[in-house]
Amino acid sequence: MYKIDIMTLFPDVVGDMLCESIMGRGQERGYIRIDCHQIRDYTTNKQNQVDDYPYGGGRGCVMQAQPLHACWKHICDEAGYRVHTIYMSPCGKLFTQADARRLKADYDRLILVCGHYEGVDERFIEACVDEEISIGDFVLTGGEIPAMAVADAVCRLVPGVLPAEECYTEESHWDGLLEYPQYSRPENWEGRHVPEILLSGDHARVARWRRKQSILRTRLRRPDMYEKLEFTTKQDKKLLAEIDEELLNEKRTD
Ligand code: SAM
Repeated sequence: MYKIDIMTLFPDVVGDMLCESIMGRGQERGYIRIDCHQIRDYTTNKQNQVDDYPYGGGRGCVMQAQPLHACWKHICDEAGYRVHTIYMSPCGKLFTQADARRLKADYDRLILVCGHYEGVDERFIEACVDEEISIGDFVLTGGEIPAMAVADAVCRLVPGVLPAEECYTEESHWDGLLEYPQYSRPENWEGRHVPEILLSGDHARVARWRRKQSILRTRLRRPDMYEKLEFTTKQDKKLLAEIDEELLNEKRTD
């Protein structure tokens, strides 16, 4: 079982969200377990205050090290070892599918720490945090959405959570490509038709079409990803030549 402990000021919201749908079923069936811990329960003051003014002045409040450390220690003591700990932070490394794969492969338990207000006291990070992860170059009000994103991305890679490995190995970002376009019923929706080839029943042609669409999409939408790809097979080289020609023809007719 893969276990994730989330330290947050909003355990009910996070817990409810991760109990739904695929994550919920994964927990019910015992493949994963996600526990949310209320940081406020670990304060030592009467008001259960978790934050205070920043030294040096400035606006807002900073989450204090004491309740964070007590909550973290409680989880590690219960686990019996120092659990790999990640602080969700806009100052962290940008999260990718490769990180989700690494976290799934290298650990069987994680602690995700959600900050709020102006963030958390740096001394807690120095003492307890192993890595900082950002989900994008923007700032949210709290670490709950980032923690849910990381928990979801990691947990769906745990065997049993999804029905089969292909559910994630054939998706965007697994092998550096974006996924091809998908269609479902009806064949004709408001005058827009499903590409003929997908109705042909010819699995080899469908696979070839999908590969080509993946390459094309990645090239047009994510040149940064496309640049890193290496196409070595005969089939891929043929697809690239077709794509080049089609793009050239499109330019000519513009
Ligand atoms: N003062 C901080 C700064 O400028 O870097 C921002 C604090 S933010 C308002 C409050 C909390 O939201 C952070 O402690 C962090 O846990 C979370 N957070 C906000 N944006 C995030 C992001 N892009 N990725 C991960 N966590 C984020």
